Amino acid sequence: MSKAINTGESVAIIGAGLSGLRCASLLVEAGYSVSVFEKSRGTGGRLSSSRLGSLTTDLGVPFIETQDKDFNAWLSDHPETVQRWLPYQTDFSLSDPKPNEARHLWVGVPRSSMLTRLLAKGVTLHTETRVSVIWPDRNGILLRDEQSEVLGHFDKVVVATPAPQAVPLLDALQSYQAKAAAISMLPAWVLSIELEKRPQSLMSIDLIEGTHPEFSRILRDSSKPGRTGEIWTLQASTEWSQAYLNLSSETVMHEMIASLVALTGDPMKATNYRAHRWLYCDAQSPDAIDALWDKDKAIGVCGEWLAGGGVDGAWKSGSALAQMILSS
Ligand SMILES: Cc1cc2nc3c(=O)[nH]c(=O)nc-3n(C[C@H](O)[C@H](O)[C@H](O)COP(=O)(O)OP(=O)(O)OC[C@H]3O[C@@H](n4cnc5c(N)ncnc54)[C@H](O)[C@@H]3O)c2cc1C
Repeated sequence: MSKAINTGESVAIIGAGLSGLRCASLLVEAGYSVSVFEKSRGTGGRLSSSRLGSLTTDLGVPFIETQDKDFNAWLSDHPETVQRWLPYQTDFSLSDPKPNEARHLWVGVPRSSMLTRLLAKGVTLHTETRVSVIWPDRNGILLRDEQSEVLGHFDKVVVATPAPQAVPLLDALQSYQAKAAAISMLPAWVLSIELEKRPQSLMSIDLIEGTHPEFSRILRDSSKPGRTGEIWTLQASTEWSQAYLNLSSETVMHEMIASLVALTGDPMKATNYRAHRWLYCDAQSPDAIDALWDKDKAIGVCGEWLAGGGVDGAWKSGSALAQMILSS
């Protein structure tokens, strides 16, 4: 049974990624009324999934591998939404693929974004809403969207976006704004393709990781629990993504498939594809301060870029900010 009491306080969270929704879920548990504003169509942020024909594919982080005890415990506690994936893995030599029992890779079932949907339980979610102004006035903290329409007044506000997207939202807190402006982010192109059939050379491989000029990883999305079809996800290396940042999706698809054919020596035909350019894949030199909270202005900031980067950083940052809010 929930021990939540209604605090009567309203919190707005900008960004429905892992950090924002982790923070949201703890505040909901503590009895706050939480509204989450997200510019995209659904939850997930860099943990999002997308349709590919009649199937879905993970376009963001392809699996969760965490060193955080608390995050691991939460993932193990939700077997209906999160399961362990034990892929046959190898490096770019493609030799000797085998499962690695020592690695614990978690995936959302049937797609990544189920994780953030679970965390969003109990929040009021406003999708396709880009917040452009956060400003304290005498009625509370005012939020406006990009058409300058008023979204409401809130008692507390949390910014849970990548650092560059936090900068324009932090006019009311210039020291936090400067911190966000100092963070640079690394990009990544990701290509999901549905293949007509599984290539011979990849017959017993689900995951390829290692050092390669074009790729950082290649994986068979369809080998994750609860998936079907023949979907492969190709994540370009940081160097390749930086060099080809402004190519069109179609050119990226042709280039990456040509590189895959060169790697495997197998001809292949994609029946469907989706290329996504992540301008902000991960923070280059993330801070390690966990989260920012100004109790006088009642505005806080969380995100992977404040807590060491990656999914662990996002989880840790969202948890830390919720604790700061609860103890203020
Ligand atoms: C392809 C890829 C591979 C990755 N691989 C790994 C990996 O192997 N290991 C690892 O640890 N991490 C990896 N990451 C990074 C990891 O996914 C992120 O660090 C983490 O998910 C960030 O979560 P977040 O909540 O901080 O930010 P996000 O997930 O980016 O959430 C922020 C949300 O804010 C929304 N938003 C932004 N501006 C506004 C606005 N003005 N109004 C409303 N909404 C707004 C965005 O749409 C987004 O949904 C990878 C990321 C990608 C993209």
